Amino acid sequence: MNQPTPEQPAATVARLRATFRTGRTKPLEWRTAQLRRLREMLTENGPDLGKSSTEAHRTEIDFTVREIDHTLDHLTGWLRPEPAPVPAHLGADASAWTQYEPLGVVLVITPWNYPAQLLLAPVVGALAAGNAVVAKPSELAPVTSAALARLLPAYLDTDVVAVVEGGIPETTALLAERLDHIFYTGNGTVGRIIMRAAAEHPTPVTLELGGKSPAFVDRGTDLEVVAARLASGKFLNAGQTCVAPDYVLTDPETAAALEPALARAVETLYGADPSASPEYGRIVNERHFDRLSGLLDSGRVVVGGTGDRASKCLAPTVLADVDPTSPVMRVEIFGPVLPIVTVPGLDEAIDFINDRDKPLALYVFSESADTRGRIAAETSSGGLGHGLPPAHLTVSDLPFGGVGESGTGSYHGRYSIETFSHRKAVLEKPLSPAR
Ligand code: NAD
Repeated sequence: MNQPTPEQPAATVARLRATFRTGRTKPLEWRTAQLRRLREMLTENGPDLGKSSTEAHRTEIDFTVREIDHTLDHLTGWLRPEPAPVPAHLGADASAWTQYEPLGVVLVITPWNYPAQLLLAPVVGALAAGNAVVAKPSELAPVTSAALARLLPAYLDTDVVAVVEGGIPETTALLAERLDHIFYTGNGTVGRIIMRAAAEHPTPVTLELGGKSPAFVDRGTDLEVVAARLASGKFLNAGQTCVAPDYVLTDPETAAALEPALARAVETLYGADPSASPEYGRIVNERHFDRLSGLLDSGRVVVGGTGDRASKCLAPTVLADVDPTSPVMRVEIFGPVLPIVTVPGLDEAIDFINDRDKPLALYVFSESADTRGRIAAETSSGGLGHGLPPAHLTVSDLPFGGVGESGTGSYHGRYSIETFSHRKAVLEKPLSPAR
């Protein structure tokens, strides 16, 4: 039997735009009904999305359901017009306010590492703001991509939400279209391609990128607690998390004590053989497995350092005595390798951070309010997490996004409404009295 010819990207965008022009997506009731359907999709099909561990449930499904619930609870308030004071020369009968309006057809392009959450959380914001959405899952997570392509049309308004599967050719074709916003999550090289394509129309972009997120460990902290929290934030999803602590920055004495504490923390989390733990993830593909294996000789192995290419399992690895110019410190690791780099103290740690690209997240473990305050004031990062990586992104009322090389724009909760809306300025002056 012949398969139906898939709709071309241009036709998809045109079809969604035609629906948007009817005004169907604008009423609050339509938006909340779509969000409720999305919630049903997740609760009825969660395990079908292609990952099955408790970790996947927590980071993909539960996270997105929370985002939906938070949005449903607050959307009316977020969308309320905001009055603005009117200058005296316009008269006391003039009034002014801002009101949100949806942008139109938005494109959401996503990576493979949290393939459901990173697609659905922006979709929640785009729909809540009243837009039509073309969603492009990552071809590197084909099971989730296929599941989303099957489920989203089954639950949502198919003339408003479309899933376009594929890789570079399909994304390139979509980028050639006139869109009203492009929301891209992934690496900075492709981020630049997105920005260049957007410049043609010009279309606003949000770039959720990555980079090396440092974790500064101060003297005098409880290193058992630090190690446990560092290890669970780092080795979640086998380190393939954009906000995972990329490397540890600390003084030499603290480093020496932290090494065995990290080895114990890894064993507590995943047992003596992490490859046998159902909680420990795998590397997405052989290419990344080989790339990560090539970083293992950048330092002295404290724990881990082994891998099995056939099963794409790379042990949770901590490297000590790492030179700042070594390969592992030149790229975003995006895998289960945690280098420890030493600096004499806080001043040098701040310089070390500021000498490099602005990170997506910066983590600080310090008992000193003075140290925490100095780092907040003297460094720049997308987010700043004291004591618990990467929990800041689970706070629905905080914006999530990067700065500089780690991205531009933000989302989650009300910040998604900001991203996927135009904030229109309105002035109203009565026609009478005529003065
Ligand atoms: P990826 O390879 O899945 O690519 C992301 C998307 O870009 C995919 O949908 C892919 O089809 C598309 N793409 C790839 N090449 C393209 C091209 N030439 N033209 C147009 N589109 C193209 O994922 P990735 O980029 O390897 O993801 C990992 C990176 O993403 C890391 O740097 C990580 O830190 C970052 N990341 C950031 C966040 C965040 O929220 N800030 C979240 C997750 C990952």
